[in-house]
Amino acid sequence: MNPQEGIAPVRQYHIAPQTGVAFTVQKHQTIRVIDVAGRQVSDLVCFALQDIEEYLSSGRTIDYNEKLFLSTGDTLYSNRSNPMLAIIEDPVGKHDFLFAPCSREMFTLTYNETKPHPNCLDNLAAVLDQYGVKAFQIPTAFNIFMNVEVSPSGQVAVKPPLSKAGDFIDLKAEMDLLVGVTACAAGKCNNYRCTPIAVEVYE
Ligand SMILES: [Zn+2]
Repeated sequence: MNPQEGIAPVRQYHIAPQTGVAFTVQKHQTIRVIDVAGRQVSDLVCFALQDIEEYLSSGRTIDYNEKLFLSTGDTLYSNRSNPMLAIIEDPVGKHDFLFAPCSREMFTLTYNETKPHPNCLDNLAAVLDQYGVKAFQIPTAFNIFMNVEVSPSGQVAVKPPLSKAGDFIDLKAEMDLLVGVTACAAGKCNNYRCTPIAVEVYE
Protein backbone atom coordinates (compact mmCIF):
# COMPACT_ATOMS: atom_id res chain seq x y z
CA MET A 1 0.00 0.00 0.00
CA ASN A 2 1.23 3.47 -0.87
CA PRO A 3 -0.72 6.18 0.97
CA GLN A 4 1.17 8.94 -0.90
CA GLU A 5 0.27 7.56 -4.34
CA GLY A 6 -0.29 10.42 -6.80
CA ILE A 7 0.75 13.06 -4.24
CA ALA A 8 3.90 15.11 -4.87
CA PRO A 9 6.36 15.50 -1.99
CA VAL A 10 6.92 19.05 -0.74
CA ARG A 11 10.65 18.35 -0.40
CA GLN A 12 13.06 15.58 -1.27
CA TYR A 13 16.64 14.71 -0.45
CA HIS A 14 19.10 12.35 -2.08
CA ILE A 15 21.57 10.94 0.44
CA ALA A 16 24.69 9.70 -1.33
CA PRO A 17 26.26 6.45 -0.04
CA GLN A 18 27.99 6.87 3.36
CA THR A 19 26.65 10.42 3.93
CA GLY A 20 23.83 12.14 5.83
CA VAL A 21 21.37 15.01 5.69
CA ALA A 22 19.54 17.16 8.24
CA PHE A 23 16.24 19.00 7.75
CA THR A 24 13.22 20.20 9.68
CA VAL A 25 9.59 19.08 9.43
CA GLN A 26 6.39 20.43 10.89
CA LYS A 27 3.92 18.51 13.00
CA HIS A 28 1.68 16.28 10.84
CA GLN A 29 4.09 16.18 7.88
CA THR A 30 5.15 12.70 6.78
CA ILE A 31 8.77 11.66 6.25
CA ARG A 32 9.25 8.86 3.74
CA VAL A 33 12.64 7.11 3.86
CA ILE A 34 13.33 5.08 0.71
CA ASP A 35 15.87 2.32 0.16
CA VAL A 36 16.93 3.22 -3.39
CA ALA A 37 18.93 0.13 -4.36
CA GLY A 38 17.88 -2.40 -1.71
CA ARG A 39 19.39 -3.86 1.48
CA GLN A 40 20.52 -0.45 2.73
CA VAL A 41 20.18 0.79 6.31
CA SER A 42 19.31 4.38 7.17
CA ASP A 43 19.92 5.78 10.65
CA LEU A 44 17.33 8.35 11.74
CA VAL A 45 17.57 10.63 14.78
CA CYS A 46 15.35 13.56 15.69
CA PHE A 47 15.10 16.42 18.17
CA ALA A 48 12.27 18.73 19.17
CA LEU A 49 12.69 21.76 16.94
CA GLN A 50 11.83 24.10 19.83
CA ASP A 51 14.34 22.51 22.22
CA ILE A 52 17.08 20.11 21.14
CA GLU A 53 17.35 18.82 24.72
CA GLU A 54 14.29 16.75 23.81
CA TYR A 55 15.43 13.91 21.56
CA LEU A 56 14.45 10.47 20.29
CA SER A 57 14.62 7.81 23.03
CA SER A 58 15.14 4.14 22.20
CA GLY A 59 14.67 3.12 25.83
CA ARG A 60 11.38 4.90 26.33
CA THR A 61 10.06 3.78 22.94
CA ILE A 62 10.82 0.11 23.68
CA ASP A 63 9.26 0.53 27.14
CA TYR A 64 5.99 2.12 26.01
CA ASN A 65 5.52 -0.15 22.98
CA GLU A 66 6.54 -3.25 25.02
CA LYS A 67 8.58 -4.58 22.08
CA LEU A 68 11.99 -4.39 20.42
CA PHE A 69 10.77 -4.37 16.83
CA LEU A 70 8.58 -1.46 15.81
CA SER A 71 6.33 -1.23 12.78
CA THR A 72 3.02 0.15 11.49
CA GLY A 73 0.90 1.62 14.27
CA ASP A 74 3.80 2.10 16.69
CA THR A 75 4.96 5.44 18.08
CA LEU A 76 8.54 6.62 18.68
CA TYR A 77 8.89 8.66 21.89
CA SER A 78 11.24 11.33 23.19
CA ASN A 79 13.31 11.35 26.37
CA ARG A 80 10.44 13.42 27.82
CA SER A 81 7.90 10.72 26.86
CA ASN A 82 6.22 12.78 24.16
CA PRO A 83 5.35 11.16 20.81
CA MET A 84 7.83 12.27 18.13
CA LEU A 85 7.07 10.01 15.16
CA ALA A 86 4.29 7.59 14.28
CA ILE A 87 4.98 4.72 11.88
CA ILE A 88 2.01 4.94 9.53
CA GLU A 89 3.13 2.66 6.68
CA ASP A 90 5.85 0.02 6.77
CA PRO A 91 5.84 -2.68 4.08
CA VAL A 92 9.27 -4.01 5.15
CA GLY A 93 8.47 -4.33 8.85
CA LYS A 94 11.96 -4.99 10.23
CA HIS A 95 14.09 -2.24 11.79
CA ASP A 96 16.46 -1.90 14.71
CA PHE A 97 16.32 0.45 17.70
CA LEU A 98 19.10 -1.13 19.80
CA PHE A 99 22.37 -0.31 18.06
CA ALA A 100 24.14 3.05 18.31
CA PRO A 101 24.99 4.78 15.02
CA CYS A 102 28.18 3.32 13.55
CA SER A 103 31.20 5.36 14.63
CA ARG A 104 34.96 5.66 14.18
CA GLU A 105 35.37 3.75 17.44
CA MET A 106 33.06 0.95 16.25
CA PHE A 107 35.18 0.42 13.14
CA THR A 108 38.32 0.31 15.28
CA LEU A 109 36.90 -2.03 17.95
CA THR A 110 34.93 -4.36 15.70
CA TYR A 111 36.87 -4.34 12.45
CA ASN A 112 40.38 -3.23 13.55
CA GLU A 113 40.25 -0.33 11.10
CA THR A 114 43.43 1.72 11.52
CA LYS A 115 42.43 4.72 9.41
CA PRO A 116 39.25 6.81 9.69
CA HIS A 117 36.23 5.13 8.12
CA PRO A 118 33.07 7.00 7.03
CA ASN A 119 30.44 6.50 9.73
CA CYS A 120 26.91 7.54 10.67
CA LEU A 121 27.87 9.30 13.92
CA ASP A 122 30.33 11.66 12.21
CA ASN A 123 27.91 12.15 9.30
CA LEU A 124 25.03 13.02 11.65
CA ALA A 125 27.24 15.31 13.74
CA ALA A 126 28.42 17.13 10.60
CA VAL A 127 24.94 17.87 9.27
CA LEU A 128 23.35 18.62 12.68
CA ASP A 129 26.11 20.99 13.80
CA GLN A 130 24.46 23.96 12.05
CA TYR A 131 21.43 23.41 14.33
CA GLY A 132 23.55 23.42 17.49
CA VAL A 133 23.59 19.64 18.03
CA LYS A 134 26.93 18.19 19.14
CA ALA A 135 28.10 14.60 18.59
CA PHE A 136 27.60 13.65 22.26
CA GLN A 137 23.92 14.66 22.01
CA ILE A 138 23.18 12.21 19.19
CA PRO A 139 21.06 9.39 20.63
CA THR A 140 20.61 5.77 19.61
CA ALA A 141 19.19 6.04 16.10
CA PHE A 142 16.09 4.37 14.75
CA ASN A 143 17.95 2.14 12.31
CA ILE A 144 15.54 1.85 9.43
CA PHE A 145 15.77 -1.44 7.51
CA MET A 146 18.51 -2.74 9.86
CA ASN A 147 17.83 -6.43 10.42
CA VAL A 148 18.95 -7.55 13.87
CA GLU A 149 18.04 -10.98 15.18
CA VAL A 150 17.80 -11.40 18.93
CA SER A 151 18.17 -14.97 20.21
CA PRO A 152 16.26 -16.25 23.26
CA SER A 153 19.50 -15.97 25.27
CA GLY A 154 19.93 -12.34 24.20
CA GLN A 155 22.63 -12.70 21.55
CA VAL A 156 22.25 -10.15 18.75
CA ALA A 157 23.15 -10.91 15.13
CA VAL A 158 23.21 -8.40 12.28
CA LYS A 159 21.65 -9.83 9.12
CA PRO A 160 21.14 -8.30 5.64
CA PRO A 161 18.16 -5.94 5.46
CA LEU A 162 14.87 -7.36 4.18
CA SER A 163 14.27 -4.22 2.10
CA LYS A 164 14.33 -4.35 -1.69
CA ALA A 165 14.97 -1.47 -4.12
CA GLY A 166 12.20 1.12 -3.75
CA ASP A 167 10.97 -0.09 -0.36
CA PHE A 168 10.08 2.67 2.11
CA ILE A 169 8.76 3.56 5.54
CA ASP A 170 6.40 6.46 6.30
CA LEU A 171 6.83 8.32 9.59
CA LYS A 172 4.38 11.04 10.62
CA ALA A 173 5.80 13.86 12.72
CA GLU A 174 3.93 14.23 16.01
CA MET A 175 5.72 17.54 16.77
CA ASP A 176 7.91 20.03 14.90
CA LEU A 177 11.20 18.20 14.47
CA LEU A 178 14.82 18.55 13.52
CA VAL A 179 15.71 15.30 11.75
CA GLY A 180 19.03 13.70 10.80
CA VAL A 181 19.09 10.78 8.33
CA THR A 182 21.99 8.81 6.89
CA ALA A 183 22.77 6.24 4.26
CA CYS A 184 24.67 3.96 6.66
CA ALA A 185 28.40 3.64 6.01
CA ALA A 186 28.97 0.21 7.59
CA GLY A 187 29.52 -3.12 5.84
CA LYS A 188 27.71 -5.99 7.45
CA CYS A 189 24.35 -4.34 8.12
CA ASN A 190 24.13 -3.22 4.46
CA ASN A 191 24.98 -6.62 2.98
CA TYR A 192 28.52 -5.27 2.26
CA ARG A 193 27.39 -2.71 -0.29
CA CYS A 194 26.81 0.92 0.69
CA THR A 195 24.13 2.53 -1.50
CA PRO A 196 22.04 5.75 -1.40
CA ILE A 197 18.91 6.62 0.55
CA ALA A 198 16.15 8.98 -0.60
CA VAL A 199 13.92 11.04 1.68
CA GLU A 200 10.61 12.66 0.73
CA VAL A 201 8.50 14.95 2.90
CA TYR A 202 4.74 15.04 2.41
CA GLU A 203 2.06 17.35 3.80
ZN1 LIG B 1 25.91 3.46 10.05
